[in-house]
Amino acid sequence: MFSRVCRTHSIFTRVLMSILLCMALLLSATVRADLENFCDNLPRAAYAELEKHSASNDWFEVYEVGPDIWAIYEPFQWQEVISYLIVGSKSALLFDTGNGMGDIKAIVDQLTDKPISVMNSHSHFDHIGGNYQFDNILSVSTEFSVVRSRGMQNESVTTEASPQALCKALPQGVTKDNHKIRPYSITREVVEGEVIDLGGRQLEILRIPGHTDDSIALLDAQAGFLWTGDSFYEGPIWLYAPETDLLDYKKSIARLAALVPNLTALFPAHNTPRARPGLLLETQQAFDVVLAGKAKPVPTWDGVVTFEFDGFGFLMREDYTQIQQPH
Ligand SMILES: [Zn+2]
Repeated sequence: MFSRVCRTHSIFTRVLMSILLCMALLLSATVRADLENFCDNLPRAAYAELEKHSASNDWFEVYEVGPDIWAIYEPFQWQEVISYLIVGSKSALLFDTGNGMGDIKAIVDQLTDKPISVMNSHSHFDHIGGNYQFDNILSVSTEFSVVRSRGMQNESVTTEASPQALCKALPQGVTKDNHKIRPYSITREVVEGEVIDLGGRQLEILRIPGHTDDSIALLDAQAGFLWTGDSFYEGPIWLYAPETDLLDYKKSIARLAALVPNLTALFPAHNTPRARPGLLLETQQAFDVVLAGKAKPVPTWDGVVTFEFDGFGFLMREDYTQIQQPH
């Protein structure tokens, strides 16, 4: 039932959505803290195999994870979000801009002098925070993406800048009481199947709704690289927010899994960069097991359960079996 709420358009529903979303954000913060004492787990083992770039600072760590592909990681905030700068011979694409706490433009400016476009894997707050620093924002157009481009006030994201969300001090000038997501202007709408040509590197946009209705993946078919956003990462994948649609997610993860024979690497948006493609097949299979009611839910928080698998998991509402069938 909840999964279709975000597709309705009444004012009442929008207000309700906002309330639910705020609740979800607060819950998500607690869930993240309960699930892992993330400060104790840093640094994650995967980073030992990667070389840290000198553009790294107290907030961001930068790693080259492919030729002219930079993972810009925020390890000291519990989202452990990863944005990616992908550089071609003519231009560069910044895929997500992080939490908006650190100065990601200053990092990007050290990595390339090519013209930069920003595109987001989806419009959750931890991926759009630095959008305001850039002039050229490409985006799919959905109700969620448009609403999020208007920014988010401090009360919606203050938990993200609270002591329990952090392993070290916030960047200078940012506090729990002033952190917010600043608004930004979408400069051009992009669509399913569109190819972004960076010069010597083409990136195809794949619409993969589910986690949110505006989720996309990026495919570099020549290299076999797939940027998965939040539709896959090594950790508990959040599928309980009001804007998540489980049936859409099922279709989208199946679409990504079908690409696996032609993939060489995944670049997820949280925790670890450069995951093995076969994990997409395992995720698809595991999700089908969950939807069939054959996996054991572990209570995590009020109304939220987790399903754990080897290397990933799903966080879902405990009433997930009540999802509507497609019309
Ligand atoms: Zn997300």
